[in-house]
Amino acid sequence: MMKLTFLGTGTSTGIPVLGCTCETCRSTDPKDRRLRTSALLTTDAGRHIIIDCGPDMRSQLLQHHNGSIDGVIITHSHYDHIGGVDDLRTLSYANGIDLYCRRDVADDLRRALPYCFNNSNYPNIPRLRLNIINEFETIEVAGMAITPLPVTHGALPILGYRIGNLAYITDATVIPDETIDAIKGIDTLVINALRIKPNPTHMNLEQSLAAIERIAPRRAYLIHMSHQMGLHAQASQLLPDGVSFAFDGLGITI
Ligand SMILES: [Zn+2]
Ligand SMILES: [Zn+2]
Ligand SMILES: [Zn+2]
Repeated sequence: MMKLTFLGTGTSTGIPVLGCTCETCRSTDPKDRRLRTSALLTTDAGRHIIIDCGPDMRSQLLQHHNGSIDGVIITHSHYDHIGGVDDLRTLSYANGIDLYCRRDVADDLRRALPYCFNNSNYPNIPRLRLNIINEFETIEVAGMAITPLPVTHGALPILGYRIGNLAYITDATVIPDETIDAIKGIDTLVINALRIKPNPTHMNLEQSLAAIERIAPRRAYLIHMSHQMGLHAQASQLLPDGVSFAFDGLGITI
């Protein structure tokens, strides 16, 4: 039994979008407020893994888990998925924290946050270790077997993850057949759905629902929504049985 807490479920802008006065951004429903997408996995042994570490991570952890982190798995290096890495600093002093990502993502992290990874003796830098991972090569993080899965994000190859009976895919446009095969019939699928209208670098709702139909999980949760998806309560009526929009703070057990 593990627990997944959705720390954030919004696209790169978050919702409300700065400067926007649309109906969704003005909504008073807490489910219409979405921080940048990331999730916290709590293992049955009480250890903690975060999936992506965006710019809202500090406030997300203060709200949901103000304690140790045993590993970070990263899908890709866009700012909304790595912008909070420096905020792991104070949590890293005790034992260091292992980050797991593709090689190109590790290169991007070294460029974005050079002081974190250049082994300098500057005081109080985070103790972060970069671990390069490869598609379909299962790794062990905090006692959990985790398999990186290839998906594409526009032209960019990025990673989704299978963790036991959970598959977590964000920012995908195309899910290749070998990834579908690796997660077919899984219990819980978390998958991105940007908005109703198509978008070149993220699946829209129709594409996400088609992917869910192919993967055929028992239940699916949608993440990485734009304000253009509309109000949570209204858009939820468009979803078939077994599919729901995740919202910030939602916790599920798998
Ligand atoms: Zn994103
Ligand atoms: Zn808006
Ligand atoms: Zn992205």
